[in-house]
Amino acid sequence: MDTKYKAEPYRIKVVEPIKETTKEKRIELLQNAGYNPFTLRSEDVYIDLLTDSGTGAMSDKQWGALMQGDEAYAGSRSFYRLEGVVKHITNYKHFIPVHQGRGAEQVVIPLLTKHDKMTFISNMHFDTTKAHVELAGARAIDCVIEACYDTKTYHPFKGNFDLDKLKHLIEERGADNIGGIIMTITNNSAGGQPVSMANLKATAKIANAYHIPILIDGARYAENAYFIKQREKGYEDKSILEIAQETFALADIFLMSAKKDGLSNIGGLIAIKDDEALFQACQSRVVPLEGFPTYGGMTGRDMEALAVGLQEALEEDYLSHRIDQVRYLGDRLKAMNIPIQWPTGGHAVFVDGKAFAPHIPFDQFPAQSIVNQLYIESGVRAVEIGSLLLGRDPDTKENIDTPLQLVRLTIPRRTYTQNHLDVVAEGMKKVYQNREQLKGLSFTYEPKILRHFTAKLKPL
Ligand SMILES: *Cc1c(COP(=O)(O)O)cnc(C)c1O
Repeated sequence: MDTKYKAEPYRIKVVEPIKETTKEKRIELLQNAGYNPFTLRSEDVYIDLLTDSGTGAMSDKQWGALMQGDEAYAGSRSFYRLEGVVKHITNYKHFIPVHQGRGAEQVVIPLLTKHDKMTFISNMHFDTTKAHVELAGARAIDCVIEACYDTKTYHPFKGNFDLDKLKHLIEERGADNIGGIIMTITNNSAGGQPVSMANLKATAKIANAYHIPILIDGARYAENAYFIKQREKGYEDKSILEIAQETFALADIFLMSAKKDGLSNIGGLIAIKDDEALFQACQSRVVPLEGFPTYGGMTGRDMEALAVGLQEALEEDYLSHRIDQVRYLGDRLKAMNIPIQWPTGGHAVFVDGKAFAPHIPFDQFPAQSIVNQLYIESGVRAVEIGSLLLGRDPDTKENIDTPLQLVRLTIPRRTYTQNHLDVVAEGMKKVYQNREQLKGLSFTYEPKILRHFTAKLKPL
């Protein structure tokens, strides 16, 4: 059927009830939560668009696979099954499971941080990636094209590296001081925006010329491959798997939060192309941090479910519905003149909080103010991706400014319907109609690292 948005390529077998609350109740709940929806109970949320991380629905095949989990501490059958799938997708020689994406980061990043004053360069670091770079004593620099910061203007690959800036940064800092080049696909923090194959190839060429290791932070590598197929010439007739394999061939190390394109509720992975020494160092490090290298913090049954999920996430039917669902919500908001990052990306619609509430300065967190009002109006939980999340500069201790003060409406995989998204759009419309009344926020409690998760705030 040729419809404007592709219908769900599945039918519903199990349901989980959700409940609406009243506006009065939500005003009280939000106040008790310190104006930070991260600290709300999920039962007090009607439609939860906080994250797409581990919040998706598993398929009947995944639930079936759970029963086949082998819970052996060492050498589990489920490990070998998962390893087979990861090696097939990546063509890499080595694989280690970890409990989630940040588990992979804490194992690998310190091993690449060979001395003081090292820098990692990414198109855009995800927040936990940046935190692990800084915990290792290094610095994280983002190097994405300018178009990424211009939410209004269409660009098919807003996650692309700025290649001139990349070369300049390497020359300026010295190749020996660069711990790695991290390709974040898709670029989560700026709208789930894809990186083109041409840009990945050009980035790899530069990194190879300077002998700098290349990492793929590939939580959403399948969504990135889908965008390449849709938008990049020469890829129309390739399969998602072929595009993914071409992508992995460009890098040395693959870190993944399997809670995204692994279609699983928990899990992560490290895959290494052929660096034996790095693999051995990771195997030693993973034991005290995550667990023995054949389980790395995962149960046998979770490894089984992930082995199936990784393959389902490469199915084109699944991906085209997923990306269309995000586009549907984006189109609805755009039709109401609500400013969003355009085009919509892979996993979320990002509302431009700076354009939405220009009267609130960056260090009073305009996007957080919108997130809070959306919860009050509709019971929908979104999340701020802006200066609250970015935190403070590790050297100057000042709040970090960014043109991207975003509200992320993150769509869990295979979970909500179009009617749910209509509730989100109507809620956002109410917030937008009364946007002049939105107020900035200040801290009553500010944690030192990853402050957005547990901070307490109050309206000014
Ligand atoms: C989610 C995510 C991570 C971290 O993974 P967790 O499973 O949440 O620990 C790293 N990088 C990117 C791009 C992500 O989206």
